[in-house]
Amino acid sequence: MRVKSAEFVVSNSEVEKCPKNLLPEYAFIGRSNVGKSSLINMLTDRKSLAKTSGRPGKTQLINHFLINKNWYLVDLPGYGYARVSKSSKKKFQKFITNYFEQRKQLVSAFVLVDIRHKPQPIDLEFMQYLGENEIPFGIIFTKADKLKPQAIERHVAEYCQELLKFWEELPPYFITSSSKTIGQEEVLGFIEATNNE
Ligand code: GDP
Repeated sequence: MRVKSAEFVVSNSEVEKCPKNLLPEYAFIGRSNVGKSSLINMLTDRKSLAKTSGRPGKTQLINHFLINKNWYLVDLPGYGYARVSKSSKKKFQKFITNYFEQRKQLVSAFVLVDIRHKPQPIDLEFMQYLGENEIPFGIIFTKADKLKPQAIERHVAEYCQELLKFWEELPPYFITSSSKTIGQEEVLGFIEATNNE
């Protein structure tokens, strides 16, 4: 799929105010600083559709972008930012679970993880939550340019091993680098293949 048009539609703090039409949507989520904004810009071939890191954890909004006039790319806030208080963490969790549990037009979520790091409990727990709620998701490994091919293979294998402790099947996964434009076709191809089903 080629991204011919990408338009910012709306930012929301409540799922009830998200676009009402039923276009298929794909949501991107991950820890702050994982490279989500850069990935969204890479996927859409736009330099600054999504704003790259100001202060992590600051913007807690659901951002809808309309792609090719027929699907939504949804930029969800980064999680796991250490400097937020417990009560705002709780609020944040509710806000995110409301989104996932209410948005029937969501085709798939993408959980972004930095390929350099060992599997982190916060990401695994989040995937567990998605699984338990039967929300389809894929994993996007980011910043693959930071590792040599062998290390990429090793890190991905380690991740898969960890997932297979809890899951019978692996979710689809993608290896990406926004700075080297790696994985764009694969992620967009997956979206194209699933958004008319
Ligand atoms: P976000 O907070 O998840 O939206 O992350 P950003 O897209 O703002 O990126 C966080 C930091 O990681 C920035 O310094 C980016 O330049 C860097 N970064 C993002 N993607 C990549 C990548 O693919 N390769 C490398 N080397 N750095 C990246």
